[in-house]
Amino acid sequence: MTIIGLHELQIIDSQMSRLNHDLESWEEKATLDQLVTRLSELEGLEGKFNNVLAKDQQDQKRAEDSIAVLTAKIEKEEKKLYGGQISNPKELKGIENEIISLKKRRDEEETILLTVIEKVEKIAADSSKIKKTLQTVSAEVDSLRSRLEELSTEINGQLKDLEAQRIEVLATVSPDSLKLYDKVRKESMGLAVVELDGSTCTGCRMELPASELEQDIGADQFRRCPHCRRILIKKKN
Ligand SMILES: [Zn+2]
Repeated sequence: MTIIGLHELQIIDSQMSRLNHDLESWEEKATLDQLVTRLSELEGLEGKFNNVLAKDQQDQKRAEDSIAVLTAKIEKEEKKLYGGQISNPKELKGIENEIISLKKRRDEEETILLTVIEKVEKIAADSSKIKKTLQTVSAEVDSLRSRLEELSTEINGQLKDLEAQRIEVLATVSPDSLKLYDKVRKESMGLAVVELDGSTCTGCRMELPASELEQDIGADQFRRCPHCRRILIKKKN
């Protein structure tokens, strides 16, 4: 029987479990997840702000164009009014009224323009704040991701070494022993082979009765804890 091999296998498997657990329970994982969520929220917000900004900038352009057109019309009418070419008082009165109406429309457009400009400035300021936050969060995410990558590279390197050792040890273990080992491991939270410390099972911390210890288990069997059923190996002194 290959109790030594099984014990070695258990040591390697426990180390591998611990390393996998270290990677999964990396303390900054929750922070990274939160930041990634925040980042995607900020990106969505930035997109929305950009859309609103683009629409308001269009409104601003439209109002500016309209004011320019109205101003040109007003100038044209004023030239007619003061150019001395028209002397008919009725016609002159008509031009005057047209100028008043054009100026009224231009005033309205200017009021609209001022409101739009205020909106554009506010949104541009908010948008720039979001952009700044986005850059900060993005940098934090990058930094945490690179730390996680370093950690996984290190752990995966160790796992690879252990995997190689495991293959060597497996060659010393019989298929039946391995079957038992896998079965007990599954039933015992990953710990199949434990040391017997005097008469105490180090797996469940229970004492084995003297009768059990004195019993000859035979060369083709493993001693098992009567309480937790784990495979026992004598503790080296
Ligand atoms: Zn036990």
